[in-house]
Amino acid sequence: MVAGKLLNRTDLIRIFMDKEKAIKPVVFLDRDGTLNVEVGYIRDLNDLKLIEGAGSSVRKLNERGVAAILITNQTGAARGYYSEDHIKALNTRLVNLLKEEGAYLDDVYYCPHYKEGIVPELSFECQCRKPEIGLVERAYEEHPQLDRERSFVVGDKATDVELASNCGAKGVLVETGYGKQVQSGEYQWKVSPDYQAQSISEAIDWILSELD
Ligand SMILES: [Mg+2]
Ligand SMILES: [Zn+2]
Repeated sequence: MVAGKLLNRTDLIRIFMDKEKAIKPVVFLDRDGTLNVEVGYIRDLNDLKLIEGAGSSVRKLNERGVAAILITNQTGAARGYYSEDHIKALNTRLVNLLKEEGAYLDDVYYCPHYKEGIVPELSFECQCRKPEIGLVERAYEEHPQLDRERSFVVGDKATDVELASNCGAKGVLVETGYGKQVQSGEYQWKVSPDYQAQSISEAIDWILSELD
């Protein structure tokens, strides 16, 4: 009777070791313009809408055992447009919209800081605003099973691609959000990502083929 079997010490050590070794590939996902439609600073929660394919893409990562971690710069509170709680509410709405599609994020990290902001508590230079790697490093600390050797960043800005090279991940630029303007030289600066995708769906399909 399997259910009644007692585990001996060797079994327990083996289970512990396997858990330690259970390293997961990881995709660090940008939020605005990558998972949800870029509409500028979102004051009304209802204006946060998923980009087509975002839910099924994150679900594919979930099903393949690839961690999906949100890493987002959110300066709206530092600029005085809304409170930091509103940033949290927007992230929660994103999580809930993904849940409706049977998808989940393994964790959510945001940087609320902005050097030129007007709200003193949030207006300083930090180590977590992309392309700085502070949030990625926090994710690695808090999720020791993540495998740095199989890490990816997906985003629509040059700063997302720069984050990838700063943290040793492969960078994927999506053409949604600011992606096209980045590559035409109209926004930030042109970049050479490891892959350029029309949208999140294509980005995740490429990443999964790289992991095969
Ligand atoms: Mg973005
Ligand atoms: Zn920060």
